[in-house]
Amino acid sequence: MHVCSLCGYRQPDAGTCPNCVEEDLLDSRDPNVLDLLRDMDDRRQQGSDRLATGIAVPLGIILGGVLTYFVPLLSGLLPLPRFVNVVLLMVAVTAGIYFALTKAMRAKPRFPWLDDMTVEAMQAQNQPPPESAF
Ligand SMILES: [Zn+2]
Repeated sequence: MHVCSLCGYRQPDAGTCPNCVEEDLLDSRDPNVLDLLRDMDDRRQQGSDRLATGIAVPLGIILGGVLTYFVPLLSGLLPLPRFVNVVLLMVAVTAGIYFALTKAMRAKPRFPWLDDMTVEAMQAQNQPPPESAF
């Protein structure tokens, strides 16, 4: 199977991608190609996680501070100094926002079939991986 690294299009024969101009399809029997595609999907996910962190941290600090200001009871929730309670609330609000955002912004994998791509599956197709092109 040959795959486009830009859009994830797959076809049995080598050639260029019909969706992306002048993009050569990569041979997915090559383990190095599989590693490259996995790496591309991982990097897209890491980008989403970084964006979630960039939003959650300032928003969590502000919301945590505002909450303890308008609901003074929250800053005395634990038998600790007021400052510690406020910081703990900021951390909790930040974590909540972060987990909600990472769940909502989960990058859709461009190559979801990679999870099924094992050495056994490739051997079952009776197609030994070609020599590395890298
Ligand atoms: Zn393409």
